[in-house]
Amino acid sequence: MKTALVCGAGGFIGSHMVKRLKQEGFWVRGVDLKFPEFGETKADDFAQGDLRDPHFCSHVIDRRFDEVYQFAADMGGAGFVFVGDNDADIMHNSAMINLNVLEACRKRNIKRIFYSSSACVYPEFNQLDPENPTTEENSVYPAQPDSDYGWEKLFSERLYLAYHRNYGMDVRVARYHNIFGPEGSWNDGREKAPAAFCRKIAEAEDGGEIEMWGDGEQTRSFMYVDECLEATLRFTRSDWTGPVNIGSEEMVSINELAKTVMDIAEKKVSIKHIPGPLGVRGRNSDNSLYEKMLGWRASASLRKGLEATYPWIKQQVEKAKASG
Ligand code: NAD
Repeated sequence: MKTALVCGAGGFIGSHMVKRLKQEGFWVRGVDLKFPEFGETKADDFAQGDLRDPHFCSHVIDRRFDEVYQFAADMGGAGFVFVGDNDADIMHNSAMINLNVLEACRKRNIKRIFYSSSACVYPEFNQLDPENPTTEENSVYPAQPDSDYGWEKLFSERLYLAYHRNYGMDVRVARYHNIFGPEGSWNDGREKAPAAFCRKIAEAEDGGEIEMWGDGEQTRSFMYVDECLEATLRFTRSDWTGPVNIGSEEMVSINELAKTVMDIAEKKVSIKHIPGPLGVRGRNSDNSLYEKMLGWRASASLRKGLEATYPWIKQQVEKAKASG
């Protein structure tokens, strides 16, 4: 039986990855500070603990795994990573996790390890025009990410690539672009735009008003979590290291994102634009390299993903209301 370790298995992408690996027949160990919040973990074994602690890392990485997925990070949406107050924690905590996990894998002779980097590594100067942002993989240098979250990701990418060069480990480095879906943060200050708008619109009265940070003309693309898992597994099992973008190429403005959610919710709500943390002006995933190297492309529409996500968030809103 094949075995996998999922670090960050209590979080959004990690808990979905555990389910997917179980469907494929893997024996899975999950590791996280917390258990998944929105349902029982499907992992065969779940170790609750702190991956910043090297002793805990050696304890949970005490055997060889066929595949290791490293999702654990101190992270969140714009309200968490672009406000400045969390920079020291983000950099310290996530760098410690990556240093420890990678070293414990090396010592245990584990070869294949996937690392989830982020589109936030790309330089701000290439993402000023909302209609024409550049995220071609090799445009990452000269580096100028717009957040310390992005700088930590870039440092850790280099760390994984150095272990690949110096220790022959089969690392896989992907840069995720806004992944969304059910069972992720939706109201804890770490939620991202799709979850935040699903929540605001679920809470609003028909004909009411919601708030949006900025003028809403900034652009992004959003990938549904199932497609992210598919892209991640295909890449991890390939014989190529990356780094590569994993995201959708369906670029929309944040106003369009909110309007699509309104449409799904069958509500008309007006948008009040207020100042807030924004990130870069434009960003889209450039998937040419992924397609060229792996011969696969993401095809699910944003609308289809939101149609699966909105009802889940609406249900959370209703549950929260009912429990006062
Ligand atoms: P998430 O916050 O839901 O999951 C991260 C998990 O890591 C959490 O459950 C958290 O408890 C755990 N964790 C944090 N510190 C830990 C520690 N010291 N020890 C053990 N566990 C710890 O985030 P996610 O959305 O599932 O993202 C997964 C990965 O993908 C992260 O590395 C993130 O930076 C990256 N990523 C995500 C997106 C996205 O849109 N979701 C985009 C780009 C990159």
